[in-house]
Amino acid sequence: MKDPSVHIKRIYVDHKCADLPYTQEIIKRATNIPVEVINDQNLLALYDTPYPENLSAGKKDLLLTTNQGAFYKPCPGTREYQCCDYQVLNIGMNCPMDCVYCILQAYLNNPWLSFFVNVDDLLTELGTKLKAETQSFARIGTGEFTDSLALDRLTGLSKILVPFMADKKNAVLELKTKSAVIDNLEGLEHRGRTIVAWSLNAPKIMKKEEIRTATLEERLNAAKTCASWGYKLAFHFDPIIYHSGWQEGYASTIKQLFDTVPAEKIAWISMGALRYLPALKNIAGTRFPNSNFFYEEFITGLDNKSRYFRSQRVELYKGILAQLQERADKNTCIYFCMESDEIWQEVFGFTPDDKSGLGKMLDNAVSL
Ligand code: SF4
Repeated sequence: MKDPSVHIKRIYVDHKCADLPYTQEIIKRATNIPVEVINDQNLLALYDTPYPENLSAGKKDLLLTTNQGAFYKPCPGTREYQCCDYQVLNIGMNCPMDCVYCILQAYLNNPWLSFFVNVDDLLTELGTKLKAETQSFARIGTGEFTDSLALDRLTGLSKILVPFMADKKNAVLELKTKSAVIDNLEGLEHRGRTIVAWSLNAPKIMKKEEIRTATLEERLNAAKTCASWGYKLAFHFDPIIYHSGWQEGYASTIKQLFDTVPAEKIAWISMGALRYLPALKNIAGTRFPNSNFFYEEFITGLDNKSRYFRSQRVELYKGILAQLQERADKNTCIYFCMESDEIWQEVFGFTPDDKSGLGKMLDNAVSL
């Protein structure tokens, strides 16, 4: 499914922001979707069942509301693992797609999708932060609590954010998605300050565990088109899931990736083996009884998330890295999301600290 926003059945508008021009713009684009202005306190009453049973229904309801808190925050990495100093730009919560392993199921407590329409506040906050931090380089992502592009046909947010970032010398924006909603990116003045990124997986996992997402072919064709519009690209093999035939599966995705997309356009590729909050196993197990990858053996990591045993992670990483290294450009930074120094050393033969830190490695990859 190229555009998961086609599944949205209702739009609710928080009465406090109903008159904003941006809210009205979104409503105008959402032809054929019923719109109701509400007091957002009323929204929970619309669901017959409590969270998370109401999640499947809630993912079809979009609430246009305002963010009263901070938009821009450091990614909550963990001290015990090598983290990449990412900054999160919070544009909304939840996602119209439905991946069995999605960590948001355990983080959130509301079933509906939220999108923050006070985008002027977002831009003011972001602009102020970037002005105050001219000595450092920020990699900023909107895909932490939602998918960066899944709602973009309705919100048109990329048309605001991409030009806003174009003249920022000390930052790049990463738009991370599993959709193929790229139409708004065409013709925007981006000046290399926006990277368009896709999460990829083995074909079996994409097909069975990533519901309402774009197919591999759709994602890679979208990436190829973005490259032709001058955008740098990124790819994330995350979560890497152990399953029968994983070697062949990941190898075939990697082959298709490099057969489709110009390698020199790829700024970075990450790898992260499946890790999850303990609560996720029950939630996902109940919502998706036919998925069984949570029933492998796991250990509890230093961040209290369940992870595969170290030997199994190393086996997965080494297999995938060998495939990536065969075809990746020498300037593409291949890295781990949240792994220990021991794993870095065992798989890559160095740790990020040997290269001035993971943040620096990624900054270099994008400023080339
Ligand atoms: S695409 Fe990302 S945010 Fe959306 S359900 Fe899947 S993992 Fe969650």
